[in-house]
Amino acid sequence: MKLRSLFSAYLALPVLLFLCAPSAARQAPDSGAAQNPAPHPPPQRPRLPSRSVPSADLLITGGTVVTMDASHRVLEDGAVAVHEAQIVAVGPRADLEARYPSARRIDAHGRIVLPGFINTHTHAAMSLLRGIANDLTLEDWLSNHIFPAEKLNVTEDFCVWGTRLAALEMIEGGTTTFADMYYFEDAVARETKAAGLRGVLGESVIDFPVPDSPSVDQSLAQIEKYLERWKGDPMIRAAVAPHSPYTCSAGTLQRAAALARRFGAPLLIHVAETRHERDESLEKKKLSPVAWLDSIGFLGPDVLAAHCVWVDDADIRTLAARGVGCAHNPASNMMLASGVAPVPAMLAAGLRMGLGTDSPAGSGNRLDMMDAMDLAAKLQKVSRLDPKALTAWQVLEMATIGGARALHMEDQIGSLEAGKQADIILLRTDAPHEVPAYDVAGAIVYSMTAGDVETVVVAGRVVMERRRLLTLDSPSILAKAREYAESVRKSLATPQK
Ligand SMILES: [Zn+2]
Repeated sequence: MKLRSLFSAYLALPVLLFLCAPSAARQAPDSGAAQNPAPHPPPQRPRLPSRSVPSADLLITGGTVVTMDASHRVLEDGAVAVHEAQIVAVGPRADLEARYPSARRIDAHGRIVLPGFINTHTHAAMSLLRGIANDLTLEDWLSNHIFPAEKLNVTEDFCVWGTRLAALEMIEGGTTTFADMYYFEDAVARETKAAGLRGVLGESVIDFPVPDSPSVDQSLAQIEKYLERWKGDPMIRAAVAPHSPYTCSAGTLQRAAALARRFGAPLLIHVAETRHERDESLEKKKLSPVAWLDSIGFLGPDVLAAHCVWVDDADIRTLAARGVGCAHNPASNMMLASGVAPVPAMLAAGLRMGLGTDSPAGSGNRLDMMDAMDLAAKLQKVSRLDPKALTAWQVLEMATIGGARALHMEDQIGSLEAGKQADIILLRTDAPHEVPAYDVAGAIVYSMTAGDVETVVVAGRVVMERRRLLTLDSPSILAKAREYAESVRKSLATPQK
């Protein structure tokens, strides 16, 4: 009798969890916000405990599994078992093949199996403006080229196709999650979901008219609807993205923060990107950008701050104390000559550090996380004349589990562990530039390129297999991007009144 009860309970548990989990996920943001209006990390969605998952439907088997877990465990001839969107087991190939004989298999022999990259700072739709103005300072690039081009060209359709182009590039380069700041972010969210990617997608607020809104009031009203629409979505976290402390007033930033916190949504912002920004802040506000943001109550664990190049020790302590996530963008910081972020000091202070590419339109030009890792490590080495300043393992962490920490999503993504989302990439290891490979982290960071990413799985869904894209039509996207380039060129050639 006792045994039969236990057996019934065992059978009923997964059903109960299945019935309960989705509604709990929908209610979580509201209930969290109601109890604690102060800055707090966005609520995490409940996960099914792995013991409730009886089987695997996908087995990635036979590769070098680089888990990026806390002990940097690497399994030779390992395997990863996936059930629906979730990893259910990571272990030796023979064990998992015996345990899950009927799962569909992806053969990973001769390949590296890695968590998908997390690009913590993009403006994806700007891919259609790729290379529009190179070799300029941030102020010149932004004020004289990007803002005018955006004013003339950025529409919802532009953002649809720009996001498709970016998604194509990101999937081919092994990115599975990205944090974005732009306009028409609802369209960006729809396209991200259709491409099968995971996104933390921030709709912009800025103190002057922008392509999708003439005023801050209208922006905030639109954002409220946007946050409402995507609440509880398993792939998209709608976010609020006030552009920066130098393009948004204290009032705008506080209203944006209050709105985000009401929904438990992340806040994305550019902070202390250039010396000019820091100096102007010190002159006009008598505080550094970080100190000023803190003084107006903006900083908290729901904030993802891009750049943080011009930060001093006090700023770093503030960012760490507030639990702010940072997105380091070496390609952008180098291309715009913004400076060198004190990444070793930020890591030593326990800051949540991710890696990003920034816009692909003159502040980097590629959404390439392999490139970002390589540059991040070498930038610190050369600027400090110290080859140990930032190691391959450290930047590999920043591109995976570090990015997850910066987004406060480390319990869901960033490493290959049972219970986490199945965001997994496979890297080939047989190209001439990869042979031989003595050290796995060094090989990934310094030898490999984005073109070595072969297969990409996001939330258990295969979106690229052996370089074959399964969610996007590359020829039509590239054709449309070229069409857009023509119309952007014409718009800039036409004299404006
Ligand atoms: Zn940016």
